[in-house]
Amino acid sequence: MGGGVAAHLYALVAASRWGASNIDVTMVDPAEHAPDRNLCVWGAPIPMLEDAVIAEWRTLRFGYSNATIVRDLTHVSYRHYSAQSIRRVVDRTIDVHRIIARSDAPEPTSDVSLDSRPNAAFHRPATISLVQHFHGWHIRTAGSVFDPHVMTMMDFRTDQRNGVCFVYVLPYSENEALVECTVFSAHEWDIADYERHLVTYIADVLKCDSYDVLSTETGAIPMCDAIPVRERGHRWLAIGSAAGLTKPTTGYTVARCIRDAEEMIDGYRATGEWSVPPRAHRRFDLYDRLLLRIIRDEPQHVSHILWTLFERNPVEVILRFLDEQTTLREEIRLFWSLPWNPFLRALFRR
Ligand SMILES: Cc1cc2nc3c(=O)[nH]c(=O)nc-3n(C[C@H](O)[C@H](O)[C@H](O)COP(=O)(O)OP(=O)(O)OC[C@H]3O[C@@H](n4cnc5c(N)ncnc54)[C@H](O)[C@@H]3O)c2cc1C
Repeated sequence: MGGGVAAHLYALVAASRWGASNIDVTMVDPAEHAPDRNLCVWGAPIPMLEDAVIAEWRTLRFGYSNATIVRDLTHVSYRHYSAQSIRRVVDRTIDVHRIIARSDAPEPTSDVSLDSRPNAAFHRPATISLVQHFHGWHIRTAGSVFDPHVMTMMDFRTDQRNGVCFVYVLPYSENEALVECTVFSAHEWDIADYERHLVTYIADVLKCDSYDVLSTETGAIPMCDAIPVRERGHRWLAIGSAAGLTKPTTGYTVARCIRDAEEMIDGYRATGEWSVPPRAHRRFDLYDRLLLRIIRDEPQHVSHILWTLFERNPVEVILRFLDEQTTLREEIRLFWSLPWNPFLRALFRR
């Protein structure tokens, strides 16, 4: 029910467990082709998505004020896929039966229905609702501007007056890159506002005055602390963003869907029951809520907090923390390195 990114990932995980010829997948979606989107994931290689990789980096850059830091990844990499590149792998591997229609209820003959339609029922409704919104340009420059080995994860050297704002750069070669203006705030911006930030960043930080915009990407991802109900009926489970698998403070979803699919299918193979894998420990909810409150109430501190996080801690521990895979001991070390006051104030706010 829904044939977007999550549906394709769960189908690939099922194929990797049972073999593509042993599964029978039907996707019901009113859109023949879901919108393409750039999808990035960090971590160990994902064999089932090897042919979907568009680019890969092992060095990350961060920028703030008049400084930058560059960090090498040793055990993991940062990889770029897209909704289309993942769908192409599915179409080559699995004989998916696609029905172009809205879906309102599971097919009665299905063994299990995985539902990525937006959710209406919540175990906990949102207490905070912000949005991560972005607009990016895929540009080709006249001269060499980029180091194709170094992706820029967050560069805060951009105007912070209308929300927490950073630029994200995925370089494909010395003269081609996706340069994206990303904002955490209450509302999306007009396109002209992102464009103004991009023009200034490309001129002042990248020192580039001659380039063509080859394509654009605009998107918005909810940043909220709601916990959706995933069990929609017997053998009928929510997946993807509708299942709350989008990390509220980062928007990253793909890796969480893959882990969820693996646990769900392995659980079924072990017990014969389709059930929802347990959520990460509740303390990760609290961390997300604290940061969301700081973004909402004290956005002026956020760029410094994130810069300090990356400046003072090993990057691979931070990436595991964002993936909710760290130990409490590692989290205490991370928080110890940060300016405390905004977190203490956020603890007592609602
Ligand atoms: C521009 C953009 C960039 C992103 N980049 C990243 C990234 O780099 N890394 C990352 O991890 N995450 C990223 N995300 C977040 C997340 O990975 C994506 O939103 C992803 O598409 C979520 O997959 P999904 O299947 O849950 O939702 P979708 O891909 O949106 O799929 C939901 C599907 O449900 C269908 N549908 C809706 N109503 C019905 C109905 N009644 N019947 C049947 N079908 C229905 C829709 O047509 C749609 O195809 C990004 C999101 C956006 C918007």
